[in-house]
Amino acid sequence: MFGKVLIANRGEIACRVMGTLRRLGIRSAAIYSEADAQAAHVAMADEAHLIGPAPAVESYLDIAAVLAAAKRAEAEAIHPGYGFLSENAVFAEACAEAGMVFIGPPADAIRAMGSKSAAKTMMEQAGVPLVPGYHGDNQDLGLLAAEANQIGFPVLIKATAGGGGKGMRIVERPEDFDEALAGAKREALAAFGDERVLIEKYLTKPRHIEVQIFADTHGNAVHLFERDCSIQRRYQKVMEEAPAPGMTPERRDEMGASAVAAARACGYVGAGTVEFIAEDDAYYFMEMNTRLQVEHPVTEMIAGQDLVEWQVRVALGEALPCSQDELSIAGHAIEVRLYAEDTARDFLPATGNLARLRFPVEGPHVRVDSGVRQGDTVSHHYDPMIAKLIVWERDRDTALGRLRAALSATEIVGVTTNLPFLAAIAAHSAYGAAEIDTGFIARHRDDLVLESMPVGDEVLAVACLAELLHRRTESGAAAEQSSEPFSPWHDTTGWRLNIDTHSRLAFRDGETETVVTVYYRADGYELALNGKQVRASGELGQDGDLLVEFNGRRFPAAVVRLDGDLIVLLRGRTFRLHLVDPLESVADEAESTGRVVAPMPGKVVQLYVKPGEAVQRGAPLIVLEAMKMEHRLSAEMDGIVAEVFYGTGDLVAEGAELMILKERDAGAA
Ligand code: ADP
Repeated sequence: MFGKVLIANRGEIACRVMGTLRRLGIRSAAIYSEADAQAAHVAMADEAHLIGPAPAVESYLDIAAVLAAAKRAEAEAIHPGYGFLSENAVFAEACAEAGMVFIGPPADAIRAMGSKSAAKTMMEQAGVPLVPGYHGDNQDLGLLAAEANQIGFPVLIKATAGGGGKGMRIVERPEDFDEALAGAKREALAAFGDERVLIEKYLTKPRHIEVQIFADTHGNAVHLFERDCSIQRRYQKVMEEAPAPGMTPERRDEMGASAVAAARACGYVGAGTVEFIAEDDAYYFMEMNTRLQVEHPVTEMIAGQDLVEWQVRVALGEALPCSQDELSIAGHAIEVRLYAEDTARDFLPATGNLARLRFPVEGPHVRVDSGVRQGDTVSHHYDPMIAKLIVWERDRDTALGRLRAALSATEIVGVTTNLPFLAAIAAHSAYGAAEIDTGFIARHRDDLVLESMPVGDEVLAVACLAELLHRRTESGAAAEQSSEPFSPWHDTTGWRLNIDTHSRLAFRDGETETVVTVYYRADGYELALNGKQVRASGELGQDGDLLVEFNGRRFPAAVVRLDGDLIVLLRGRTFRLHLVDPLESVADEAESTGRVVAPMPGKVVQLYVKPGEAVQRGAPLIVLEAMKMEHRLSAEMDGIVAEVFYGTGDLVAEGAELMILKERDAGAA
């Protein structure tokens, strides 16, 4: 065994790898950037090394800095996780030169599969089926357009060096080809420093089915069955499951054999994934990922294997722990990726502080892979994934029940996440019936991207009770410190000289303001709102935990205070209420609606409009590149462009005002 392994990564995957290392008795060394000094993976490691400032290029992607840390740590091997340097052939070679084992495939295999076009050429030779398309070296614009016509629209343009859905464009009509090509090239250049593309026939209702493979240095290669990753947004997976619904044993053997052939064709060693796109009865090779995938836990759950342990053993030169015959599938596993993102705004990454974070209790049926803790900040520097929830059960239906329960036991306050969106998918009848393909999210968008739920009377009453208990605790603390602990000024029972003991609290939910009248009783409160009355009492615990008793009925809830608002968590749902301060001015209500603001820091890469131009609601205004992806901002109203504050190429800060639209009438003069 290795004595110590350095994990060249952060977040959940760093923690997940350390978990296995610890079980195997291997010490782990973490690396971290200045932004991650307090991160979970640093706290979990046996030792941790600072390698540079927050931006990934100056830390987690800096090969020299990572290797220097590994030397300092006297690590014998390096596990790259996924992302960052995991598919970097130069890094794999540099590890070997520095005398350390790279826990991953040989550099040549990474290189061979690093280019989608070169990989396709190699697979073609190995007899693995390919999607009809063009993957040649000649990148002449006219030739690419001619190839697209030849393939037949719709086509998909992909970055040759691509990954993570970046640099991809669907083109429906020949007349849109040139603009889409320019966009794909721009995004590819920004993300990978390589603007080459390939073109494929765009399949309209395909499923993404991938096969986990493993090979050792003794010539053994096996597959560990398939994963269905068809639930995607922006070509990126959000939910994965294994086995794939509807997969027959014959088809599984066939795809498994193709995947193993793909691995053998490039001299593969270690963990890899061969991705296929499947439509009707056909399946085609898409690409091979030469690392551990984000979604590997579903395979671990159904196969009963620890893939990180397999990686370590293969890196040590051992033979694969199992032969193909010894591997079998038990039950069904589903994974969801919890992202800090705003589903309503085209899945724009979100940032913030995790004021409250609760995950379901882990056990044989529920696994939580996370790299954050309550109080941590989700920044724009790194991938916005907060955690993965994985459930396992004997069949798909039962697993889905587990998933719904796990999602409703998850609570996140302080950062916008896709939790309600994931819960909506898990509850959707089409998902339940396994009617899935890569168009699932787009097709059911209206059922999945929910408007925030209106706040009901019960939620209001819970918020009110929490506020009253909070005030009582605060004044109790104040009284204890005061020189006059029995002064009537510390009393929060609403007692007033010669007046009935009641007071009022007002809450605002969007436009609606509700006043709750509170009567103070010996055993609690009586709350009157919207013509109803409830006898309320309760206990406020840690972090906003709240035990509620309404008219003798008890239930748990949580109420967290955030920027003057109360966030109520009740039965798996989250509500935000503003507690109205009686002195608060109502002045800046009529704020201009025409401000177009950068939702995150980024670079302006395209402007669609000029001052004076008329735009309609929904019209594209500006394209920002942030986190190496392009985000298009559209007009939220009909109007005239009054002012544009930035030009193409400018860097903008989060919240920067990019342009102003004004109403058409206002501009008529
Ligand atoms: P990346 O490496 O950027 O993740 P992939 O080649 O793996 O890109 O493709 C990502 C996703 O894009 C696939 O899972 C699938 O949903 C979609 N996709 C890829 N190729 C096609 C195609 N030819 N037709 C339709 N959808 C496709």
